[in-house]
Amino acid sequence: MDAKIAIIGAGIAGLSTGYHLMKAGFSPIIFERESFVGGRMSSDHVDGFIIDKGAYTFPEFHKNLGRFVVELKLDNSLFQTPGTSSTFSRGEEYQIKIGSVRDFLRYKLISTNGKKGLIKLFLYAQSLGKALDIVNPTQKSFELEKESASEYLLENYEEEILEKIAYPIFCEIFLGTPENNSKLAFLATLKNLMRFKIFAFDYGMGMVPERLVKGLDVRTNSPVLKISSRSYRGPYEVHIGGDNPDSLVFDAVVVSVPLPIVPKIVDNLPQDLEQYFLSVTYSPSIVIALAVEGEFNHASMINNLLRTDFDVLGTVVFDCHKGRSRVPQGKALVTAILCEKASQALFNESEDRIVGEALKEMDTLFPGFSNKLIFSKTYRWEHGAVQLPPGWLLRQHSSNKAIENGFGNLYFAGDGLHKSSLEVSFNTGIRAANQLIKKIRKEGFS
Ligand SMILES: Cc1cc2nc3c(=O)[nH]c(=O)nc-3n(C[C@H](O)[C@H](O)[C@H](O)COP(=O)(O)OP(=O)(O)OC[C@H]3O[C@@H](n4cnc5c(N)ncnc54)[C@H](O)[C@@H]3O)c2cc1C
Repeated sequence: MDAKIAIIGAGIAGLSTGYHLMKAGFSPIIFERESFVGGRMSSDHVDGFIIDKGAYTFPEFHKNLGRFVVELKLDNSLFQTPGTSSTFSRGEEYQIKIGSVRDFLRYKLISTNGKKGLIKLFLYAQSLGKALDIVNPTQKSFELEKESASEYLLENYEEEILEKIAYPIFCEIFLGTPENNSKLAFLATLKNLMRFKIFAFDYGMGMVPERLVKGLDVRTNSPVLKISSRSYRGPYEVHIGGDNPDSLVFDAVVVSVPLPIVPKIVDNLPQDLEQYFLSVTYSPSIVIALAVEGEFNHASMINNLLRTDFDVLGTVVFDCHKGRSRVPQGKALVTAILCEKASQALFNESEDRIVGEALKEMDTLFPGFSNKLIFSKTYRWEHGAVQLPPGWLLRQHSSNKAIENGFGNLYFAGDGLHKSSLEVSFNTGIRAANQLIKKIRKEGFS
């Protein structure tokens, strides 16, 4: 119990590691670079508006996180959203309720031929069973990831499936494109779409991290600059910058930051591990919160914008559908997530330029929208979401085997180990905590 443990990063992965270590009787210290906790699962509270800065949904198939939410007694704050979704094409709005077969059959955005293709695709995805489990892939999974989603769809289906179904899915769920992700990633996501109950937290997604922090020693504004050690088994010297620069020594370290950051802060990683971490690709993401006068209750919760019509906006979320307390009466809040191309192009641009570009497109969707603006806030995520290009899973799988038991007394957690989702980060956080507890109980530190 006296083991000195450091956790790097207070996202959901690092916090779930910390919580489970604390429950087992340890007292880890969590170092966080930013002034807030939760990373990509965090919320801002501005003038009565509650803004999700990154993750904005909590789907029903996040089973482990769901059970944990009950353990934390936060289930009363879970709010089931209406799950309405619209796609805009050539100035027309096409609405559908996610998971509704009836709505799908009446859906006018896709031609009858396209619908037949989609049903075939959906049945194919169902028939693949466990092969579509990206976290526990089988030999069949590796076969399915040999081509990109766009190559596969263009070769076998109408182009509308690529542009009107696959693109919005990748844009919304992977913050990427069908060109940069595999056929497997597409089928795995499609399979889940028919049983899609979506929840959010009444007071913002940041409720979970804010609750987890209680009782934990979390040091914000404390970026870890370097982790060095004489032996790969530790002890590890952790050099901290920020408000209170310091160097502290730990028996074990759990690194729960996006993987490409790891080689920048951990000294003397084996070369193959270093190469692997650096090669994990994330798409960047810009999120803009737009608070406006007037209500938009008729708007769908999730609005997908096609790249054939829109250059900047990817997914537009109306936050009034995510909880009872999120938006003051008579006002509306929109969370606009830019598409990958625009996030890349505008990442280093000024806030005014980014908001201006987004508002131009919002005005084409909802005329006069920008005249009602109360305030805007911009959030930039350099590591927005993990991409799963063809052949990636096989590589990930072999490397993950090597780091499954940690490297010396260094352990890893976070979405970079599999794919971006709250469930993956939560699960990998618990896995890291359990590995560490097992090791200490069995061997102690030598
Ligand atoms: C716009 C957007 C929308 C999303 N929507 C959803 C969704 O609806 N549902 C869903 O399931 N998932 C969604 N995701 C993905 C999900 O948010 C992430 O997969 C998950 O939150 C990652 O958690 P994490 O703890 O692994 O990483 P992070 O949240 O990135 O946490 C890592 C932490 O490490 C800190 N850090 C980095 N470097 C250092 C350092 N040197 N020293 C100290 N600290 C450091 C960071 O500041 C950060 O707080 C979305 C992501 C984005 C960007």
